[in-house]
Amino acid sequence: MTPPTASRLGLDLVATVRSRLGGAPRDDLTSPATLAAWLAARGMSHCADPDEVDLREFRALRETAYRLLEVVVDGTRARPADVESVNRWAAHPPPAVRLRAEDLPDGRTDLRAEPVRPTTAQVLGLVARDLVDLVTGPQRDRLHQCEAEVCGSFFVDTSRAGRRRWCSAATCGNRMRVAAHRSRAHD
Ligand SMILES: [Zn+2]
Repeated sequence: MTPPTASRLGLDLVATVRSRLGGAPRDDLTSPATLAAWLAARGMSHCADPDEVDLREFRALRETAYRLLEVVVDGTRARPADVESVNRWAAHPPPAVRLRAEDLPDGRTDLRAEPVRPTTAQVLGLVARDLVDLVTGPQRDRLHQCEAEVCGSFFVDTSRAGRRRWCSAATCGNRMRVAAHRSRAHD
């Protein structure tokens, strides 16, 4: 259910609406269970179980993220309410980290990081901070919106030439190549 190449939390969340610009967008986040699956696919299966309130918050952050990415890519004005909302989410503290120390018989101590169950608010904070970095950080100038007609997803073009056009070559790129081939065949 996850688009293969977005690879950053802020972009991944926006991409949970497929074919956003078409007549029939499809939403991957329709229930707390689908949100739990989305989190699990990002290595957060140990995250606290999301409920309906969490779902609403993630979807609200997603739409805010979409509008702020548009602000960067299209050079338009940001809504003050969106900026305030992102700041509210980004203020959630990051998930805790725990160190576990186990003394071994050979005289050494084994040190490990122990996973701590993050709250959904903490994950919202992670996504919001990733978004802030996306729209202000070093990759900001490499942000693009997918050129596939209905897609609407954003991606960071890390290719050396900087000429990437699709959020995913396998899905949108392929679909557009097939469409171009078909229209040539009809000429
Ligand atoms: Zn796309």
